[in-house]
Amino acid sequence: MARLAIKVDVDTLRGYLEGVPRMLALFKRQGIRASIFFSFGPDNSGKAIRRIFRPGFISKMMRTKAPSTYGLKTLMYGTLLPAPLIVPTDPAIVRRALEGGHEVGIHAWDHVYVQDCLERISKEEYLSLYRKAEALYKDICGRAPTEIAAPGWQLSHAVLEAEQELGLAYASDVRGYSPFMPVFEGMEYGVPQIPTTLPTMDEIYGLPGINDVTIPKAWLDGMDKEWNVLTVHAEMEGISKLTVFENFLNMAKALGTEFHTLGEYAREASLPRGEIVMGTLTGRAGTLAIQRQTDAR
Ligand SMILES: [Zn+2]
Repeated sequence: MARLAIKVDVDTLRGYLEGVPRMLALFKRQGIRASIFFSFGPDNSGKAIRRIFRPGFISKMMRTKAPSTYGLKTLMYGTLLPAPLIVPTDPAIVRRALEGGHEVGIHAWDHVYVQDCLERISKEEYLSLYRKAEALYKDICGRAPTEIAAPGWQLSHAVLEAEQELGLAYASDVRGYSPFMPVFEGMEYGVPQIPTTLPTMDEIYGLPGINDVTIPKAWLDGMDKEWNVLTVHAEMEGISKLTVFENFLNMAKALGTEFHTLGEYAREASLPRGEIVMGTLTGRAGTLAIQRQTDAR
């Protein structure tokens, strides 16, 4: 019987306002608890246009029909339109996620900025951005957050050091195959990493043979690890691909899949040391943090 944790990333105002409520209703119908990571501050999605010169960016935008998935307005936030603040627009949505029994964590204060400019962000700057999200989180949830997930799986020593300083219960910053204690460029860190093991919808959608009908099976076939993690996006699986996501959950449940949260993984899995490297993944532009494959897994 397979084990699966659903990780939800909330990147945009539209995903937050429209996608998250629908996903919460879906999880309630299915009796599933997820781990949901919110972008709290400005939606600067329009600035992601900076990625246009990265290999793979344009093909991904076309493959995933980005303008209809994200909405034209979203693609102008932070450039032609001012960047709206995501969680302050309707803090009750975060509260409802918490009340629904889900794990609620921080994805970012400013997703696009951290994802695109991480190499020049110091630990101090990273922490000052984090504190803004944390303050909102505390107002809404009545306690400090204990979990985090890096935007776009971008990672640096500054981030790993900050996470350790914050004493977080776990972080989900990398792609990989099994929970581990991170080593990055020879430095050991103390916050467990719970990697995303499955490809995201935007990485595989539109590849040969991969469509709305076949995606659920592709994910089920990929659930061959002991600690499977699927990352979904509020702006995609929560809006235009909600039915595809629901079909997948129905099929997974019919096959007896056990659903867990990332926090449960962090508590239950053995956590050997594992190395993080920056590498590339099919369907994703640029480099991202990947757990190095060790033994014959
Ligand atoms: Zn994200």
